[in-house]
Amino acid sequence: MRKRVVNIGGVKVGGDNPVAIQSMCNTDTRDIKSTVNQIHTLENAGCEIIRVAVPDMEAAKAVGEIKKQIHIPLVVDIHFDYRLALECMKNGADKVRINPGNIGDKDRVKQVVEMAKERAVPIRIGVNGGSLEKELLKKYGGVTSDALVESAMSHVRILDELNFQDIVVSIKISDVPKMISAYKKFDAISDIPLHIGVTESGTLKSGTLKSAVGIGALLSEGIGDTMRVSLTADPVEEVYTAYDIQRVLGLREKNAEIISCPTCGRTQIDLIPIANEVERRTRNIKTPIKIAVMGCAVNGPGEAREADIGIAGGKGEGLIFKKGEIIRKVPENKIVDELMIEIEKMQGVD
Ligand code: SF4
Repeated sequence: MRKRVVNIGGVKVGGDNPVAIQSMCNTDTRDIKSTVNQIHTLENAGCEIIRVAVPDMEAAKAVGEIKKQIHIPLVVDIHFDYRLALECMKNGADKVRINPGNIGDKDRVKQVVEMAKERAVPIRIGVNGGSLEKELLKKYGGVTSDALVESAMSHVRILDELNFQDIVVSIKISDVPKMISAYKKFDAISDIPLHIGVTESGTLKSGTLKSAVGIGALLSEGIGDTMRVSLTADPVEEVYTAYDIQRVLGLREKNAEIISCPTCGRTQIDLIPIANEVERRTRNIKTPIKIAVMGCAVNGPGEAREADIGIAGGKGEGLIFKKGEIIRKVPENKIVDELMIEIEKMQGVD
């Protein structure tokens, strides 16, 4: 279903807006300096919305100072305590993640909603497979996609009754087929924008795989308005992976794409570390470029014809080519540096 547009501190989600990329700090929010430093790194990697955990009043008070020093919308993650939500909004939070059904009596929910209305702060309802209501677990015999959707809708109703529509919903679970099914079911019945992701998806490798499959399946059907890749890794990896998923689906063209060959019996250079190093050094490139890293000169440039620039390995050396044409030969230990010089020239960097 087409989604209503929600404005998160200037970043619009829903409607025809791009799927905004989020991450979450893993610093102690009370440690303002470390949190701001991490947010700056994430901004530089392309993070568009950042979330911080707010477990206590000291963290809620730190939000004001953090907000002054960053350039992207700040979301606060709160469990249960409505006073923390109020304090964070006073301090300029751009979105609050809190489940209204967990706040307690109606007056508390009303206070949060009133302030959110007054300050145009959206609320994200975040349903999680690990903390589903007992009645729903009993009713559905465990965590099912229907139970997750019913849980989300019960929180939505509380906000609806208070005439509050500035809502985003997430339904997270680490089981990918259930996650896909739950989001599809919610998407079919509501115009509330969806924050999509696979929770507790694992380490860099397994989490990337699960997120690519789960988030990718939804995005390929036009479901999802903002996304977070959750990884047990440096959060900057979440941002890179999110862009990669969107690029693979043709939704974003922002960053560098590495095309590299699988290597074979013709390879005469140590290609795998070269490909990894090129990937590492081109991660923060902001304009689209296709870079090929190929093992041999016989098939390399031809196989990577669609690349903007690349290298093809020879014996202890490499050929640099642009648009399929060889431009020069360099020794193996200079391949990455020389390739980077050419890439920077193409990007207009002196
Ligand atoms: S580009 Fe060359 S080295 Fe790489 S897989 Fe193809 S034939 Fe083998």
